[in-house]
Amino acid sequence: MTKTQKVDKNDSKNNAKTVKYIFVTGGVLSGVGKGITAASIGAILKAKGYNVSIQKCDPYLNVDAGLLNPVEHGECFVTADGKETDLDLGHYERFLDFETSKFSSVLSGALYQELIEKERSGGFHGKTVQMVPHFTDLVQEKIALAGAKSDIHIVEIGGTVGDYEGLSFIEAIRLFANRVGRENCLYVHVVYVPWINTSKELKTKPAQNALKDLRGFGIIPDVVVCRTERPAPRAICEKIAAFSGIDKDAVLNLPDIESVYDVPFNVLKSGVLEILDKFVGSDTEPDMARWKEFSRLREKKWAKTVRVGLVAKYVGNEDAYICVTEALKAATAWEKCNIEIAWLDAEKLTDEELKSVDGIVVPGGFGVRGAEGKIRAAMYALENDRPYLGLCLGMQMACVAAARRGGMKNAGSEEFGAGEGENVIYIMEDQKGKESTGGTMRLGDCPAKLKKGSKVAKIYGEGHVVERHRHRYEVNQKFLPEIEKGGLVVAGTSPDGKLVEFVEGTNSKFFVATQAHPEFRSRPLNVHPLFREFVKAMK
Ligand code: GLN
Repeated sequence: MTKTQKVDKNDSKNNAKTVKYIFVTGGVLSGVGKGITAASIGAILKAKGYNVSIQKCDPYLNVDAGLLNPVEHGECFVTADGKETDLDLGHYERFLDFETSKFSSVLSGALYQELIEKERSGGFHGKTVQMVPHFTDLVQEKIALAGAKSDIHIVEIGGTVGDYEGLSFIEAIRLFANRVGRENCLYVHVVYVPWINTSKELKTKPAQNALKDLRGFGIIPDVVVCRTERPAPRAICEKIAAFSGIDKDAVLNLPDIESVYDVPFNVLKSGVLEILDKFVGSDTEPDMARWKEFSRLREKKWAKTVRVGLVAKYVGNEDAYICVTEALKAATAWEKCNIEIAWLDAEKLTDEELKSVDGIVVPGGFGVRGAEGKIRAAMYALENDRPYLGLCLGMQMACVAAARRGGMKNAGSEEFGAGEGENVIYIMEDQKGKESTGGTMRLGDCPAKLKKGSKVAKIYGEGHVVERHRHRYEVNQKFLPEIEKGGLVVAGTSPDGKLVEFVEGTNSKFFVATQAHPEFRSRPLNVHPLFREFVKAMK
C-alpha cells in the first residue's frame, strides 16, 4: 500500500466498516418489548467486553420529544448534551450503563427539517429532493455518526414494519448493508405471537405475514424473536421458520417475564448468544455477575419495606415518571429492602396520605395543576421531618414551602402566576418570552459546585458535580433569607453562584432537593447516590 492509499481513520466510510450494526425492527404490533430486547442484546454484548452504542429511529413527524404529552408518551428523557427524547433512551442508559447523546435519537421531523433547510439554502444545487435517496441517505448518515466510535451499534426502528410512515427507515437500513457489507449487519425482527384463548393455541399467522412484509422490503432477518405471553413450544418457532424461509435455529422465543431486568437472562436462554457470537466473531462468556446479583437482590423478600409517596400529576401512568421509579426500585434492592410506591395525586393530597409513607418524592413537572399539593407535601416533610427528595419542580416547590414557613404567606412561582414580591421561583433571564416553545429550556448537563460541609456534598463525595437539567424557572435568591428561616439552605449553586442547584433541610434527617434530574443518571447496577441515601433515610 502506498502512502496515499493508506486507510484514513477519519474517513467515516472506512471507519464504518469496522463497526458491526444490529438493526431491531418490529412486526405485528408495537409495544411488545422491542426496545427492551434491543437493550438486552446490548447489555449482553457489553458484558462480553464490547463497546456498544444504541440508537432509536422514530418515524414521528415531531422534531424532538420535548412537546410530547407524558400521559400518551411517557416521560421525556433528556440526554447529557441536552436533547429531549423519548423514554426508550432511558432504558438504553439503564441497560447499557452508558450515556446516550443527541445522535442516539432520530425523529423524522428533525430529518425533514434538516433536509428542507438545506434545500432552502440551495444546498441541493437545483436537484429534486426525494425520500430516496435524500431522506434515506440522511438516515444512514445519522446511523453511521451515532455508531462511529463503537464496536457494535444497535439501531431500533420505532413502530411496526409496514407502517406507512416508517417505510423510508426500513429502506435506509436495507441500504445500509450495501454501505458497510451485509456481514457487518444483523437484522433482528421482533414479532408478536398471540395466544387465542378460545382455541387455546398460539397463532403464527400474524408473524408469518409480518415476516413476509419485511421480506417484501428486501430484508431477510438473521434473528426472529417471537414474543409470547407464555413460553412457546419449539414447534411454534419452527413453524414460523419453515413458513418464512428462515433457519429454524434463528427463530427464538422470548416469553413475558416479570421484570424487564430479567430479559437479558431470557435472551441468553433463548439461544441468541450463539448467533451473536458468530456475528461478532468471539465466544467470550458474557460477564453477567452484577446483573445476577441485582436480580437476586430484587427478587428477595426483605424484612423491611419502605413506602414511598410519589406526589404526581399523572397518577397511574408509571411511564410518565419511569426514571424516578426505576431509580427508587433499584436503590431499594441494593439497600436490601422492599419498596411500595404510593401514588399520591397532587390535586387531592391529604395529610393522612402523607402520614402513611416513609418518605416523599416530588418529581419534575410543568404547569399549575397540582402545585399546591406538591407545596403541601414539602411543607409536611419539613414539619414532620419526613425524608424528602425533590427533583426539579420538587425543589422549586420545597423552596416555596420553606418561604411560606419563613413568613411569606403568598410565596409562589412565576410559572403559576406569582408576581413581584412573592415569586420565590421566577423565570430565568434567558428564558423570558420562550415559555411555550420546544427545545428552549435549560437542557442537559450543567455543572454545580457544592457547599463544603453540606449533606449533599457528603452524599456525592465531591465538591463539583454535573447533572442533567430541563427547566425554565429558578430560585429567586432575593428570598433566600425567608427560605432559610423556613428550614432550607442552599447546598449547591452553578459555578458562578447565579443559579441555585441544591437545597437541603437544616433540621431534617434527609431533605434534599435539586434543580436537576439526577434520576436520568441512575442505573440499576450503579444507583445514583441521592436515591440510595433517600432510601437509607427511610429504612
Ligand atoms: N416547570 C418547572 C420549570 O420549568 C420545573 C420543570 C421540571 O420539573 N422539569 O422550571
